[in-house]
Amino acid sequence: MQDESDFPIAIIGAGFAGIGAAIQLLQAGIDSFTIFERAGEVGGTWRDNTYPGAACDVPSHVYSLSFEQNPNWSQRYATSGEIQAYLLDVVAKWDLRAHMRLDTEIVEARFDEDAGAWHLKTGFGDQFSARVVIAGVGGLVDPAYPEIPGMSEFEGEMMHTARWNHEVDLSGKQVSVIGTGASAVQVVPAIAPIVAFLTVFQRTPAWVVAKFDAFYPKWLKKLLARFPFLLRASRFVKYWVSEIRGPIVFYNSKLLSLIGVLLSKWNLRRQVKDPELRKKLTPTFQFGCKRVLVSDDYWATFERSDVELVTDTIERIEAKGVRTKDGRLHEADAIVLATGFKLGLVTAPFPIIGREGKTLDDAWSGGAVAYKGMTVAGFPNWFILMGPNTGPGHTSVLVYTEAQIAHAIEAIQRIRNEGLKYVEIRQDVQDRYNEGIQKRMKHMVWGGCKSWYLNPDGSNHSLYPGFAAEYVLRARHFKPAEYEIVK
Ligand code: NAP
Repeated sequence: MQDESDFPIAIIGAGFAGIGAAIQLLQAGIDSFTIFERAGEVGGTWRDNTYPGAACDVPSHVYSLSFEQNPNWSQRYATSGEIQAYLLDVVAKWDLRAHMRLDTEIVEARFDEDAGAWHLKTGFGDQFSARVVIAGVGGLVDPAYPEIPGMSEFEGEMMHTARWNHEVDLSGKQVSVIGTGASAVQVVPAIAPIVAFLTVFQRTPAWVVAKFDAFYPKWLKKLLARFPFLLRASRFVKYWVSEIRGPIVFYNSKLLSLIGVLLSKWNLRRQVKDPELRKKLTPTFQFGCKRVLVSDDYWATFERSDVELVTDTIERIEAKGVRTKDGRLHEADAIVLATGFKLGLVTAPFPIIGREGKTLDDAWSGGAVAYKGMTVAGFPNWFILMGPNTGPGHTSVLVYTEAQIAHAIEAIQRIRNEGLKYVEIRQDVQDRYNEGIQKRMKHMVWGGCKSWYLNPDGSNHSLYPGFAAEYVLRARHFKPAEYEIVK
C-alpha cells in the first residue's frame, strides 16, 4: 500500500532510531511517513535481546529519548524488558502503529534520479516509492555464530544470547557460556544461581568497572514525575559525567588509561579474593581498547564453587560438551553463545543502488564511510541513523541518533518546502570529513587490540573519535553548502 501523500518518507527499522525519527517527524509537523520493520514487533535490540540478565549498561535517564523521558524507570540501569515496555508505550502514545508495516523486509532500494525518489522493494515483491529514506537498521543486529568445529554434533540445547530460547529451562543443568563480552557479563551472573554447574570459556578477559546499580524508591519516582525538571537534571548530570569520563575510555593516553585500570582493578579485588583467578580475569590490553564492561556481580560469580572459568582454547564441540586444547571435555547440557554480532556496518543491509547505478557496497568497499555517519555521496535523499563512525564507547548512542534525525528533518523540510528533487552530500565534503575522522583515530585507544570496533584491515569505521557533545554540535544542522542541491 503506497502512502497517498505527495511527499512519502520511508523509515526502515522500528528500533529506537526508527521510533525516534517517527516522533521527531511528527513533532516537525510531518506525518507522511511509513515505517518498515522486518520483524513482527518494534523494539530492535530490546525486542531481540531477552536473555536472563539482559539490561542496558548506560543509565536509563540518558538511555531514553530526550523528548520522552520516563520518571518511572525502576532502577538506574533498566532491564531489557523494561526498555522494551517503554518503547511499546511510546509507540502507543504517538500512535505510530498507524504508520507501520511490520513483518515487511526491505530487500532492495534503487534511486530514480528523474523522479528524485527511492523505489523500495519489499520481501513480498511489492514496491514503495519514497522521496526520502531514513535508514535505522542498527549496527549490531544479526548474531555472530562462532565457527567452532563440531557445532552440529552437540546433542544438548545451543542458543545465542541475542536469540534466547525461553522454552529451554536451564535450571539444574550443566551449562557452558562461550564469550566474555557485554552480553556475557550480564547472562553469567543471572544464570549461575539456577544452573547445576556453569563453565565460562574466556578467550580474552575484559576490563569491567563497577555499576553501582540501584532501585529507585517510589517517592523518588513520584518526585521525578511531579517535577520534570528534576528528571531533566538527572539526565543532564549523568550525561555530563559520562562525557567527562569519556577520554578515559576513548583517548590513547597511558595516564588516563591508568585511571580506568585502577578503577577496574578495585572492582576486581572487591569481587574476587583468589589471586590466581584475578590474574586470569585481568586483561593485558589497554583500558578502553575493547568495550569497557559494567558489572557489580560478573567477576564475583567466579568465586562460586559451581562456576568454572576456562581459559584454555576451545578445540571443538562434541556431542556431550566442549573440548579444549588440553584434551579436557567440559560436559554440557546446554551451550550459550555470547559471541556477539555481525557488524552490520561493514556492508549495506540489502542492495542499495544509488545514482548512476552505484551500489552502497561499492561505495563502502574500502570501509563504511558517510558524512557525519549520515549521508553518502551518490545516495541522495538517504539518511542513515547510527551509521559509520557514530558509535560511542562511553555514553548513550541515542544522543547521536537524535542529532542525526534533526539533520535529516532539516534536509526534508528544505526538499519539501523548496520543491527540490534531491540533496546529495558533496564527495569532497564527505572525503574531507572522513580524512579528519581517521586522523583523529590515531589518538584513540581502539587500535591496540582485536574487537568488533575494527575492520579486518585494522581501520575503525564504527566509533566516533571524540565527545558526544561535539558530535551533536557538528551534526545536528543540515548545511546546504555541503550538499549538491538539485531542483
Ligand atoms: P562481543 O563484545 O563481541 O563479545 C563476544 C565474545 O565472544 C568475546 O568475548 C569473544 O572473544 C568471544 N568469542 C567470539 N567468538 C569466539 C570463539 N570462536 N571462541 C571463543 N570465544 C569467542 O559481543 P557481545 O557481548 O554480545 O557485545 C557486543 C556489543 O553489543 C557490545 O560491545 C555492545 O556494544 C553491545 N551490547 C551492549 C550492552 C549494553 O548493556 N549496552 C549489552 C550487551 C551488548 P574475544 O574477545 O577474544 O574476541
